[in-house]
Amino acid sequence: MDFKRFFRIIFMKAIVKTDRKRGASYRDVDVPVLPKDGLLIRVVSASISPMDISVYNWTDESFPEQKMPFVFGEEFCGEVIDAGQLARGFKKDDFISVESHVFCGTCGQCRNERRDICQNLKIIGRDIPGGFSEYAVVPARCAWKHSSDNLKYLGAIMPTFASAANAVLSQELFGKTVIVSGCRPVGLFSISIAKAGGASRVIALDRSAYRRDLAVKMGADYVFDPLSRSTPGKIRKISSGEGADEVIEASGNPAEINNAVNMLRPGGRFIAASKTEDGFSFDYSSFIHNGIKMEGLPGREIFKSWYKMETLLRSGAVDPRPAITHTFQFKDFNKAFSLINKKEQKCGKILLVP
Ligand SMILES: [Zn+2]
Repeated sequence: MDFKRFFRIIFMKAIVKTDRKRGASYRDVDVPVLPKDGLLIRVVSASISPMDISVYNWTDESFPEQKMPFVFGEEFCGEVIDAGQLARGFKKDDFISVESHVFCGTCGQCRNERRDICQNLKIIGRDIPGGFSEYAVVPARCAWKHSSDNLKYLGAIMPTFASAANAVLSQELFGKTVIVSGCRPVGLFSISIAKAGGASRVIALDRSAYRRDLAVKMGADYVFDPLSRSTPGKIRKISSGEGADEVIEASGNPAEINNAVNMLRPGGRFIAASKTEDGFSFDYSSFIHNGIKMEGLPGREIFKSWYKMETLLRSGAVDPRPAITHTFQFKDFNKAFSLINKKEQKCGKILLVP
C-alpha cells in the first residue's frame, strides 16, 4: 500500500470557520467521505466570493443556523482523483470547475430549468464543506468538466464569470448604452462581456479610483464616480440626452442603486445583480412612471450560463485577466481578507491556492 497517498487523502489542510466572529483558521481536518454520486478532487485554485467575505467577517445574518466548524470557499477548481460509482461521465484526472449551488433536480424550479433558485438549494462552502482546502468532495451534478487545458488557469473564476454572463447577456445589447454600477469582480467581468455582446458604449461607475482603473483595463469606454454631482449630466450627454438603455447593478450600495435608476432612459432595463442592505428604500414610483423593467438575477443559470461563459472565454472575445489582481497561498488567507476589508479595497478578484 502507498501509505503516503493513503494518509494524504484522509487528512488535509483547510481554511476553517470555527467561531461566530470575524476570522478563520488554517488547520488539519478530515477529508469528507466520498458519496456514490460524488467526486473527490485535488483543489488547484479557489477564488474569494462575496459569500466567503460574509463568512470570514461573519456580518451576514442569513447564516444563523450554521453549524461550526466548517470549511468554506465557494468557488474553486481541481483535478478528479476519485469518482463515486454513480458519478457517471467523470474519471480520474478530469479537470473540473465547481457550481456551488447544489440543486435537488426534482423540485418545480429545477424541473423548469431554474436550478439556481431550487427550493431545496444547498451551497458548497456553507451547507457542505467548501474548496479552501487541499481536497474537496462535490456532487458530480455540480461539476463542470473542462474540455481542454486552455482555460484551467481561469477555473476558479468561472462561477463569477458565468454570473456576469447571465446578467449581461440575458437581453440583446447590440448598439445599446450600458451602465455597469459597481466594479468589483462581477461588475468588471460584466464590462468586458457587454463590449463583446455589442454594446455601443459601456459606462462604469465606482467610487474607488483603483477600481475605475481596472474598469478601463476591462474595456469601459467611460468611468465615473457614481456619487459625483456631475455624473448624471455627463451620462445624459454621452447618451444623446436620453439616459442609458440598461443598468447592471453590481455595487449593492443603496445610494449608488438610486442614482443608477435615475440614469436610465424611460423604458430602460435595470438588472439587479448584487444584494444590498435590508430595509433599503428606492423610488418605486419612478419605475412605474418611466416604464422601467427590473429583473433580479441571484446568480447564474445552471448550466446555461456556463456554456455562455465558456464560449466567451474560448473565443478570446473577452480577457478576464486584468480583473484578477492577486494570488495568495491558503496559509496566507488572512492577508487576502485584510486586503478586501481595507476601506480602499485595492483589489479585484483574488485567487487562493494550496
Ligand atoms: Zn430543486
